[in-house]
Amino acid sequence: MVQNTSKNGSMKIIDAHVHIYPDAIAQRAAQSTCDFYDGLPGKFDGRLDTLLKEEERLGIVAAVMLPVAVTPDQTQAVNRFAEQAALSHPGRILPFAGLHPMDENLEKEIDEIEQRGFIGIKLHPDIQKVDINGPECRRLAARVQGRLPLYLHAGDDRFHYSNPERIARLMDDFPDLEVICAHMGGWSEWPQARKYLKGRGIWVDTSSTMEFTSMEQAMECLECFTVERTFFGTDYPLWSTERAVRNVCAMPLSEEQREAVFHGNIERFLAHRRAKACAVCGSRGILF
Ligand SMILES: [Zn+2]
Repeated sequence: MVQNTSKNGSMKIIDAHVHIYPDAIAQRAAQSTCDFYDGLPGKFDGRLDTLLKEEERLGIVAAVMLPVAVTPDQTQAVNRFAEQAALSHPGRILPFAGLHPMDENLEKEIDEIEQRGFIGIKLHPDIQKVDINGPECRRLAARVQGRLPLYLHAGDDRFHYSNPERIARLMDDFPDLEVICAHMGGWSEWPQARKYLKGRGIWVDTSSTMEFTSMEQAMECLECFTVERTFFGTDYPLWSTERAVRNVCAMPLSEEQREAVFHGNIERFLAHRRAKACAVCGSRGILF
């Protein structure tokens, strides 16, 4: 039986990986992601309302929003939109901030992101065309380590921006960096993800994985990075949300483990972030 039982109250789900865009540009933005991945079909229109409706239907109670600043001049706009979405749906939309590593005012932007209460910073090195272990990202890492987690798009065997080995080199030099590697550690590079990122205490998410690879490969990654550090994610608007839920339901896990992936792990991660925020400055963490 592969069915989310949350409707009858027994399985709570939080989606740790979504992209949402302002209504006016949503369709175009969603389409450009599909084009970037060689013409993926794309499932939804990328609007906030569509996400909320679909997640409500499936009993998904909250979504972690991951804005991408494709160019440095987009940072402020994507974060304003993320902030609005979070403030108008408290507890439902939990926002990371977008940031382009080539931003001229990198340090200032990071300080502002922290002060405004975002969970952390989302980078997509492949779309941003910046090496995760290059000088710009190292400058960014130096500033955020010990302060804000980095949610990375990880892996793409077509490019040399976000490969697991590069992420590992960055982590070697910035040991206090807290890293979430989307797509089970490295999209299209799952064996390399296990090889280079095992035992580094990274978090991973299940998004855009089983649409491309076998259950066996996904389970090998889950065992490598551990059930306790795996979040459920859909990568809305790319795929069927229902299918993403079913994929995790189909994993050979105990009920406790499935609960951990569906909500317990991300709740623990967020609770830790909130606690950290409060210890330093009462005004932080307002967005989640
Ligand atoms: Zn994504």
